[in-house]
Amino acid sequence: MKHRYQRVRGTYDILPEDLLLYLKAEETARTMMKLRGYKEIRLPTFEEAGLFIHATGETTDIVEKEMYTFKDKKERQLALRPEGTPGVVRAYLENALNTAFPVSKFCYTGPMFRYERPQGGRRREFFQSGCEYFGNPHPVADAELILLMNDIYASLGISGLIIEINSIGCPECRANYRSQLLAFLNSNKTQLCADCNTRIEKNPLRALDCKLDREKFVNLNAPVISKALCADCAGHFAALQSLLQEAKVPFTVNPYIVRGLDYYTKTVFEAKVQGSDAICAGGRYDGLIKLAGGEETPAVGFAMGVDRTVNLLRAKTAPEAKTPPVFIVIQQEEKIIKNAFLLANSLAGNNIAVAGPYPDKSFKAQLRLADSAGSKYTLILGENEINSGSVTLKDMAGKTQETVKQEDIINRLKSGV
Ligand code: ATP
Ligand code: MG
Repeated sequence: MKHRYQRVRGTYDILPEDLLLYLKAEETARTMMKLRGYKEIRLPTFEEAGLFIHATGETTDIVEKEMYTFKDKKERQLALRPEGTPGVVRAYLENALNTAFPVSKFCYTGPMFRYERPQGGRRREFFQSGCEYFGNPHPVADAELILLMNDIYASLGISGLIIEINSIGCPECRANYRSQLLAFLNSNKTQLCADCNTRIEKNPLRALDCKLDREKFVNLNAPVISKALCADCAGHFAALQSLLQEAKVPFTVNPYIVRGLDYYTKTVFEAKVQGSDAICAGGRYDGLIKLAGGEETPAVGFAMGVDRTVNLLRAKTAPEAKTPPVFIVIQQEEKIIKNAFLLANSLAGNNIAVAGPYPDKSFKAQLRLADSAGSKYTLILGENEINSGSVTLKDMAGKTQETVKQEDIINRLKSGV
């Protein structure tokens, strides 16, 4: 039967079993980020649309095609956040978080929204765990983030991480490179998609990030920006590589990675596993904080795609036990119901997962439920038990049972669950 309401295209219900994997990915990222001094913040899921238009970039795919924008009742032009960084920068400036110490580190986790064509690994509401490092221009900051990303995936047990890095230089390097790239794009115009033809006029660098033409640029040997870097940017990139080598983090330089955002400078990086889309991506954005109205402040960050990370975890993780270890079965009587209700509370309060009581079901039906739920123990509470202040503890696997005093039950279960 078709139900009256369905979830909106591109959105997903994250059901209990899967949610455990989301929490594992997010919690691992959070713990490892905090170990490196990133402080967690939680920011609004919608902002003035202008923030993203200005910061993410007017001619990026995210802003041009993928942003959920709407007017509120007061005609304010708002947008559901498509990514985390612009909000972090806004909050940093608005709350004057920059005054105490020149270096600040933040991490966040939460939903992002992009109007993309839904398909495997591409959702309209998805989750990112990200971190931002403000105030350190040195490549140690870039290297720290790449290491952190590598450590998170190692700790999640995801092996075979492929880390690709590149440098897209500073605005000066890009001005030099732009003319080379334009010449190339113009002479190959007819082979490129309609979007790339528009990009020639509006933002030629964006073409390199095109989902359709990406391969062609490699095959046609398009000029690469890494060859047009100024001395400062080239030195920064070389120093980063040497730090990564020092830390024994495996990486490759992919000169065709430019990333889909306007604000990047110097380092950009992506991580994936063989055959997957990018699961985590980031880069340096030394110009963004000034562009948003702050002091000139170097910055670097990354965002981990939680859903795509979970796809990899799902493939390697056996589903966790669905059933709580203890199932309470009772006789349907007022005083027993109350006693069982309190017992369930005290078990849960002592970290023992519990199901029941279900007083609307007959004693027999409860026993059947306990059997089919696959719990490790059944606790039976009837007239006799209540009168003697005890419970009957049935071990479902061994089919043995014993009588345990109510005051001893928690210790008994803790030693056996
Ligand atoms: P792609 O090239 O796959 O579109 P992107 O460059 O747009 O990725 P970023 O903005 O760098 O992605 O976001 C960082 C990470 O967030 C990505 O590596 C990916 O894991 C995840 N991500 C981005 N867009 C989506 C989406 N629509 N659905 C699910 N995850 C996403
Ligand atoms: Mg994208």
